[in-house]
Amino acid sequence: CGIVGYVGPKQAWPIIIKGLKRLEYRGYDSAGIALVKPHEIKTLKKAGKVSVLEAYAADKDLSGTVGIGHTRWATHGEPSDRNAHPHSSGNQRLAIVHNGIIENYAILKETLISNGHVFKSDTDTEVLIHLIEEIQKEEQCDLTEAVRLALTQVIGAYAIVIVDKEQPDQLVAARKGSPLVIGVGENEYIIGSDASPIIEYTQNIIYLKDLEIATITIRGIEIRTVQNEIQTPSIHKLELKL
Ligand code: GLU
Repeated sequence: CGIVGYVGPKQAWPIIIKGLKRLEYRGYDSAGIALVKPHEIKTLKKAGKVSVLEAYAADKDLSGTVGIGHTRWATHGEPSDRNAHPHSSGNQRLAIVHNGIIENYAILKETLISNGHVFKSDTDTEVLIHLIEEIQKEEQCDLTEAVRLALTQVIGAYAIVIVDKEQPDQLVAARKGSPLVIGVGENEYIIGSDASPIIEYTQNIIYLKDLEIATITIRGIEIRTVQNEIQTPSIHKLELKL
């Protein structure tokens, strides 16, 4: 339902929590955040309000400058802690947040299970992250390429953001049918499923288009299509103010 992502010099947790609260008006049943550091992804997720997640996180180490957050409106799998996003890959290397519906998840899941994948949730979303893991292993490619190849197999609507603990300084985002906007700050990027988590930090916005994949680090952004054509990002000025 709602997505927030951050990469930059600041601590990601408070920015993502604040962003998720700005998205609360959309309605949701669960909330979660994954923080990335070299060789480590820490995922905290709970059914209920963002405040429940905050209380649960109160005594935890929440350090990290790269992260993704989600408020879920369940479509596949009941609202629960384990069905909340982010979802991780079987090898725990990757984590994803997703808005929308993967229509062909059942057939993809069947193939993945026969290849030995074990699922921890009932969501359509978890299928996508296992598929990306499978491709990353088979093709020995970087995250962006694995996401691109996975999306050539996916039918449905999605806005997704993915992190990889072996490429811990980046976010990979993509969309089709569900909105995703990228705020371009000073050496930082804030992703939102709408502009409300972003306006506090910057008015420079990139509207990701359908079937585009963005690779975002503190050093810059690169956009390509699912067909692997490099795109020149165009930055728009947001008129909206807080
Ligand atoms: N289909 C996904 C799920 O049920 C995402 C729902 C959403 O957009 O929040 O977990």
